[in-house]
Amino acid sequence: MTTDELYNRLKSIQPGAVLCTYTKEKCEQMLPLINEINERKKDQDTVILAHSYVAPEIILGVADYNGDSFKLSEDATKVTQKTILFSAVRFMGETAKILNPEKDVLIPGPLTGCSLADSITGEEVRELRKKYPEHTFVCYINTTADVKAACDVCVTSGNVMKIIERLPTDKIVFVPDRLMGQNIQADLDKRGIKKEIVLHNGCCYVHETYDSELIDFFRSQNPGLKVVSHPECHPGVALLSDYVGSTGQMVNYIKEQPDETPFLLLTECGLNARMQYEHPKKRFIGSCSMCKYMKSNSLENILETLRHPEKAEHVELDESVRVAAKKCIDAMFYYAK
Ligand code: SF4
Repeated sequence: MTTDELYNRLKSIQPGAVLCTYTKEKCEQMLPLINEINERKKDQDTVILAHSYVAPEIILGVADYNGDSFKLSEDATKVTQKTILFSAVRFMGETAKILNPEKDVLIPGPLTGCSLADSITGEEVRELRKKYPEHTFVCYINTTADVKAACDVCVTSGNVMKIIERLPTDKIVFVPDRLMGQNIQADLDKRGIKKEIVLHNGCCYVHETYDSELIDFFRSQNPGLKVVSHPECHPGVALLSDYVGSTGQMVNYIKEQPDETPFLLLTECGLNARMQYEHPKKRFIGSCSMCKYMKSNSLENILETLRHPEKAEHVELDESVRVAAKKCIDAMFYYAK
């Protein structure tokens, strides 16, 4: 890749605010890292999967696949390379390992946690099961392998409503996202479906920051504004949004809207950046927020992991945990059909 090619990909993106853009000089600095990563990928039979929330130079410079955690998990089952480098957070690498036990899965970021996934452990789910022995345990995909292994069915933000409705039970414990759980309950109530949903108290620290005042402010400044939010946001935010969906569903919704439409995306900034690149004629205004975990991925640490992978960067799972977690994910594929 040349500096001009890289600059042409990145120049329409404002990763932070209006005055924050990629310059040719910045592209020149990043280019040696990008070219060495791309060379090493070939030599080391490695594929890079990057979540939409990581930095644009990773997505547009070195990633082979890009998308939300569910799409990337599916992509991970199709790749032929022997090593998967997952530029995202640890639970996503674990999902790739659950589905591809024979592959070496690497996670390069130094902050590989997630406020949501880290809000509950497998042990805590097993304790909850004693309290609610008759309930079906549903976990969001943003959980560790150990939590998935302790639950019955996994869901994504794209299929959660469909699966909860289809489950042949009216007693559900949903972990770990309290706000998504409240959105599920509101959706069921709206459709007159009676199910008891017991919630845990986890949340995504990025999505919980948005509120209705923010939407009112941006609407007052931008006539015709389309507000697009993620189901990890507060139910009050979801209620005021024009569209609520997973990042994959948001991307499809945006694609269908006319050019020049102004959008307020209430999710991590990485999606804003990706949309600025993919839809240069649409307008993406604030106010997104950065996830410190996703943004701890960098070209430097991807390269370092390819040069000298540390033991902690390899995703390792106990086989009994992997098999039980796979059963939970398979149940999702079954109910989502
Ligand atoms: S955006 Fe939220 S859910 Fe996603 S990795 Fe960051 S803290 Fe976790």
